[in-house]
Amino acid sequence: MQWFGVVTLFPAMFDALVSEGVVARAISQQLAMLDIINLRDFGVGNYRRVDERPFGGGPGMVLMAEPLQAAIVHAKQRAKQRGASRVKTVLLSPQGKPWSHAAASAWQADTSYDGLLLICGRYEGVDQRLINQCVDGEVSIGDYVLSGGELPAMVVLDSLVRLIDGALGDAQSAQQDSFSAHLQGLLDTSHYTKPVEFNGEAVPKVLLGGNHAAIQAWRFVSSYRNTAHKRPDLLQGLQLNTQQIKWLHNANQMQ
Ligand code: SAM
Repeated sequence: MQWFGVVTLFPAMFDALVSEGVVARAISQQLAMLDIINLRDFGVGNYRRVDERPFGGGPGMVLMAEPLQAAIVHAKQRAKQRGASRVKTVLLSPQGKPWSHAAASAWQADTSYDGLLLICGRYEGVDQRLINQCVDGEVSIGDYVLSGGELPAMVVLDSLVRLIDGALGDAQSAQQDSFSAHLQGLLDTSHYTKPVEFNGEAVPKVLLGGNHAAIQAWRFVSSYRNTAHKRPDLLQGLQLNTQQIKWLHNANQMQ
């Protein structure tokens, strides 16, 4: 069981995540715990203020350090009550380390933490002193700027939760996904399902034959070709074994 927490000004955005799909199922099966903490509850004064104008002038508002710190303290107490005492605090930020399958796998395998607290920024961002004092790392989901950290937090949560043993219906499906170690970091193979023919285009014959060795060879070649075509950068440094070289060599004879 793993603990995840989110500090956000927009908790309702997470309703979809906790009511449908893989994350919802993992929570209901008690494989993961998720606490959504409303930053507004820790706001200052009668209006529960959480943001202020930036010192030095300029546009927009900045999330204040004090409410965020109080929300983080509360979240960590909650984590402790739920059995997680080593919580990593991460700020979603376009300035953070790029998120990737490799990062998700490494985090999932890292036993020095038993909880992950995600802080969603808004407006111009977060007071730097909060980052300096309370944040262990920053994560970006790509080189573009979104209006808030909620969507990035959901991306990070989904990619982590689906790696928890038992979270996916079929234990093998995460292993077969693009970027996985099982695929040596390559993209996934192409997939086909019924009908056998669609608008005149047939399923590759080998997939219908039940010859597992031939299917394995075809899938590797498909995966390799998908990668070469869509993400040739991923082929750099790839070490092929003799079997895989043979499969690629014979690829044109595969049907
Ligand atoms: N002024 C900030 C900057 O340029 O670095 C951007 C602030 S953005 C409008 C508001 C919040 O959205 C950020 O604090 C962060 O939490 C979140 N955010 C926006 N883009 C993101 C990205 N690519 N990855 C992760 N979080 C992002």
